[in-house]
Amino acid sequence: MTRNGIHHVTAIAGPARRNLDFYTRTLGLRFVKKTVNFDDPGTYHFYFGDEAGNPGTILTFFPWDHVAPGRLGVGETSETAFRVPEASIGYWTHRLVEKGVAHEAPVKRFGDTVLAFRDPDGMRLSVVGVPGAESEPAWGGSDVPAEAAIRGFHAVRLLVADAAPTGAILTDVFGFAEAGREDTIVRYKVEGTEVGGIVDVHGAGGFLPARMGGGSVHHVAFRAADDAGQAEMVKKLAANHGIRTTEQKNRDYFRSVYFREPGGILFEIATDVPGFAVDEPAASLGQALKLPRFLERRRSEIEAVLPNLTEAA
Ligand code: ZN
Repeated sequence: MTRNGIHHVTAIAGPARRNLDFYTRTLGLRFVKKTVNFDDPGTYHFYFGDEAGNPGTILTFFPWDHVAPGRLGVGETSETAFRVPEASIGYWTHRLVEKGVAHEAPVKRFGDTVLAFRDPDGMRLSVVGVPGAESEPAWGGSDVPAEAAIRGFHAVRLLVADAAPTGAILTDVFGFAEAGREDTIVRYKVEGTEVGGIVDVHGAGGFLPARMGGGSVHHVAFRAADDAGQAEMVKKLAANHGIRTTEQKNRDYFRSVYFREPGGILFEIATDVPGFAVDEPAASLGQALKLPRFLERRRSEIEAVLPNLTEAA
């Protein structure tokens, strides 16, 4: 069955251990994969998600110790929202206070309660209380109780000068349909996809362009079932929108092409296959440092330069 929606979100972070601690201990996500940036193997690439690292739950980071902070602006993802059960917003408010994470007052957006906060690098996040989310599976390996645990992505919000051209890509290529408007935000939704099924496009001219850095979202990846599904999307982008993607890159856990959408944001099309259990058992995901085959012979050299992730560091 073909499923559309968000595959993963990739962002830039500061020190690796602080990033790892925040997403596993404060937010209670599973550490799904510990690998390196394939294009810069002295840098980690962390993947967080649900128990299996299903598409629609995966948030990934490139952590750099001395990264300069980013500046939010036009042509960037301005918020990454997680789904939580509606009744757990109170729990999350208390948890953020207890963990020393500053948050905004809860607000209603498109009928749901949204609690916005930032990660230690200033990345804009929120948890959104979704009716019925308590019946969806959640990672049970953290100290966040099952009735409050994060259920993957609710939505991403994109900040662009003009919402329409970005919306045209979402609807024509990625299977979204317009589902409502609130102020200057147009909501696009994939019918029948709960996790990772919403993109809010915020059309707002007059802002400065984004400057990538710590706390910035680097790109948003959308799902293709497999190589054939991806090729269909690539064809549509060229034929209907005059957009060319990169050649396909093998990311080991999925295969990807990239392009810049009309609003200036980097989009990726990532296959659902083969997934994160391709190079280690599902039960012990995220524990060992996994390297792509072409870097395996440099393992000791790479391990020597990667930042220390243990408490005593
Ligand atoms: Zn990606």
